Amino acid sequence: MTEEAELADRIDAVRRRIAGACARAGRDPDGVRLLPVSKTQPFQVLAQAARLGIVRFGENRVQEMANKDAGLRELGLQVQWALTGPLQSNKVRDVAALASEFQALESVRIAEALQRRLTAAGRRLDVMIEVNTSQESAKHGLDPAEVPDFAARLAPYDALNVTGLMTVAANTPDQRVIAGCFQTLVDLQARLRDAGTLGSAWDELSMGMSGDFELAIEHGATVVRVGTAIFGARQTQG
Ligand SMILES: *Cc1c(COP(=O)(O)O)cnc(C)c1O
Repeated sequence: MTEEAELADRIDAVRRRIAGACARAGRDPDGVRLLPVSKTQPFQVLAQAARLGIVRFGENRVQEMANKDAGLRELGLQVQWALTGPLQSNKVRDVAALASEFQALESVRIAEALQRRLTAAGRRLDVMIEVNTSQESAKHGLDPAEVPDFAARLAPYDALNVTGLMTVAANTPDQRVIAGCFQTLVDLQARLRDAGTLGSAWDELSMGMSGDFELAIEHGATVVRVGTAIFGARQTQG
């Protein structure tokens, strides 16, 4: 089998597992978006995926996203980018210019910098607030208790379209612990909706990765971020 056929098979297999999880949960599969996470993969692999119909890729590092964007453009391919990793202020300009969504907002200072760049560029950006639902100190994201106040402070930044919440669940084989992380995000979404915070619908719940996306769908994920189950093992830590 060619590399491209293998990639097509793995994408199909993930889509079938998403459909299966939706069926078990009584959910419409159209309500779950697959975001392939291509960090550490060379842009030639992204080119193959793009030719198979993948239009948006998740990346964790801005410089890597910008390099791949340039590589793909040279091949005549234009794709969309979702930044799923932390953003430093010196990279805000690239994100404002290149990204379609930023799933890891956790700082008002970055929100303000994005607002400035986006306004100058005449663009808006979909953003999600990253929440640390695992209480693992190495994880990014805000403590759930901090999120309502943080969300309210985003109100002045009208170039940011706050679509919902993102989390990375605990790194453990214990399914109950992982499910608890997903449920924390669901409960927080309900709280923000009840409070009418930002007037946003808070529709998006980005949760679930290769090891836990079916469980995430059963808990209400609207975006699953899948890397290794599609692209295989990563060469380096991403
Ligand atoms: C790497 C990464 C993923 C994908 O992880 P896999 O386990 O390879 O599916 C998803 N979300 C974030 C934030 C990541 O950093």
